Amino acid sequence: MNSVDTLKYLSSQMDFEADGEPRLDSPAPVCFTPKEDAHTLTHRAQLPNGKSILLLKTLLSSACERDCFYCPFRAGRDFRRATFKPDEFAGLFSKMHQSGIAEGVFLSSGIAGGGIRTQDKLLDTADILRKKYQYRGYLHLKIMPGAEKDQVYRAMQLADRVSVNLEAPNTERLARLAPHKIFIEELLRPLKWVEEIRRSEPSYKFWNGRYPSTVTQFVAGGSDESDLELLTITNWLNKNVRLKRAYFSAFHPVRNTPLENKPAVDPMREHRLYQASFLLRDYGFDLEDLPFTNESNLPLYTDPKQAWAQINLVEKPIEINKAEKRDLIKIPGIGLKGADAILNARRMNKLRDLSSLKKLGVVAERAAPYLLMDGRKMAAQLSLF
Ligand code: SF4
Repeated sequence: MNSVDTLKYLSSQMDFEADGEPRLDSPAPVCFTPKEDAHTLTHRAQLPNGKSILLLKTLLSSACERDCFYCPFRAGRDFRRATFKPDEFAGLFSKMHQSGIAEGVFLSSGIAGGGIRTQDKLLDTADILRKKYQYRGYLHLKIMPGAEKDQVYRAMQLADRVSVNLEAPNTERLARLAPHKIFIEELLRPLKWVEEIRRSEPSYKFWNGRYPSTVTQFVAGGSDESDLELLTITNWLNKNVRLKRAYFSAFHPVRNTPLENKPAVDPMREHRLYQASFLLRDYGFDLEDLPFTNESNLPLYTDPKQAWAQINLVEKPIEINKAEKRDLIKIPGIGLKGADAILNARRMNKLRDLSSLKKLGVVAERAAPYLLMDGRKMAAQLSLF
């Protein structure tokens, strides 16, 4: 394979990775025909600052010595492997960037020769990109299991975002997915290091004078864990290591792996986990506010914020003209921007009907059952919409 074919091949295998940045278009095709050009290698993705870019998401190598039960790259699986040398990948990506095909890159790798050696290769690649090719665009670097603290620090100096995939919520659950990954020492500790380094070093020492953000990924349903377990660790990470975001990838069986006969997890579970994680991170909800079932899972067919409001706000609706932001954002249909818009509009005039709320970006139909406007219930006005 030449370099472009290698890149096509490795990028096409990355669709199983849910972490990184939210995709704005459909997944890239898994197979490429010779006529397809390099544009098929990237996809539109949204960065933490809201900007949308063409992102190349790829592996430096699909060779791996570990044997995670769910993974297509696991050692011993009959699978064509491909590997880039750091300077080879950096040169190729630099050309893609200069020609406008790719505006950013998310770089991960299978593990070969240990986590430290593999991390060194990722760091070398990033270093060549930044120094030799003067690449100043978006770079997301994966931290390998077993990487050392100095390597984490170096990654933070080169990347806009670093990530460690926890995969499961705790040691016991991880053993069912990845028997040779060590939850505390190999996965959780590097996330803690990132935060320790942020707290001990000034921001000017890092890429573009800013601390990189941190994300992680879980294989939702892969170890029969509950949503409560996943959200408990997510909440802890939010509070203790300033996690930017947890990604949830609904388990899907891969042929010729030990979990190939395990049923796929309903993608709706992924959606509910995201909703609940945003409530914990941004909306002032606590774990005990979330509507867990007796099995400690979120109901699949109810929005968790709506379920909370049904229990807590139907009898005690919130007065929209007096409530503080922390209460406004508890109302279904009112997001963070909508709450700010309400506070701004209220400085000029009282809000008197649902149409004025709708103009502020609120999903008024959803919010109506849970609010008062000057003491009046608004649900009766739904027919106006
Ligand atoms: S270490 Fe990563 S690439 Fe290797 S088998 Fe496990 S999940 Fe797959």
